[in-house]
Amino acid sequence: MKRGIHMHAQGSVLLGVDPLVLLDHYEIDYHHSYAQDSPFFVGLSKKKLLGSCCTECGYIYATPRSHCMECGAATDWCELPLTGRVHTFTTCYFGGEVFLDETPFTLILVEFDGVDSLFLARLKGMEPSTVHIGLPVVARFAKTPSFKVTDVWFEHTHR
Ligand SMILES: [Zn+2]
Repeated sequence: MKRGIHMHAQGSVLLGVDPLVLLDHYEIDYHHSYAQDSPFFVGLSKKKLLGSCCTECGYIYATPRSHCMECGAATDWCELPLTGRVHTFTTCYFGGEVFLDETPFTLILVEFDGVDSLFLARLKGMEPSTVHIGLPVVARFAKTPSFKVTDVWFEHTHR
């Protein structure tokens, strides 16, 4: 077996023959449209949490949703409170590549007064063993938005 043999001008490298293994470079520019969810992510950049309010029955979702799952009517965007409580939580000892350096970290479902569904987010600034149901939390936003869900997280607030 020979290693490091260049196969062609594009840069493939033969790493092995049994089994046959090639090293190739792969790169792509990816256009990711947020489509109807766009206002939610723009809202994060303005330090706002936007939920979805049903125009018929008044059900309020803590997440983007174009139509109501209770009655089927269209929703409007509405601003959510920035403070809430931990409804439930879990400690993650593994995660996607972006989050590996932060393990262990805590994921929480946030409940807000007057809102009918929950919001999934990270809880920062607390040892996982000290987190509990009912803990008051406040939304924090990235100073420089990346227009991703990591633009918002929660921290414990004393009130
Ligand atoms: Zn509805």
